[in-house]
Amino acid sequence: MAPQLVVAAAIVDDLDQPYEMLAARRATPASLAGRWEFPGGKVDDGETPEDALHREIREELGVRIALGDEVVGPDDGLWQLSEKYVMRLWWAELVAGTPEPLVEHDELRWLTRARWLDVPWLDADVRIVHHLQGA
Ligand code: C5P
Repeated sequence: MAPQLVVAAAIVDDLDQPYEMLAARRATPASLAGRWEFPGGKVDDGETPEDALHREIREELGVRIALGDEVVGPDDGLWQLSEKYVMRLWWAELVAGTPEPLVEHDELRWLTRARWLDVPWLDADVRIVHHLQGA
């Protein structure tokens, strides 16, 4: 089975000079609860990755975003999350609304740049945050 594509957003206060970044704490499933992630989700059949990302962010956070550059991963541009999932990630900023944890999260937090690593990210996301800090 080919891995399922997940798309996610590193939502920052300013795409030109990112200082604050939005992290989301999973409430479900139990195996991931309490860990922090980039909001996003799985791409549905027939959907482009970008459309899926806009949909997921609307559903999960109730906001609209504009996408910046893709954060290209080391494996053919992808970030390997596990045997089952690979992820594509984009920088993004808000264009409408105030993010709220509507579906699978129970807390959102804007992290200032020096604190991007201060929350317990999902294991697969830690190296991505390191990568962003160096960017
Ligand atoms: O959000 P969703 O449950 O659709 O994501 C599918 C899987 O991708 C999760 O089970 C999680 O393991 C992984 N994931 C991740 N980092 C993210 C988003 C999702 O590791 N930022």
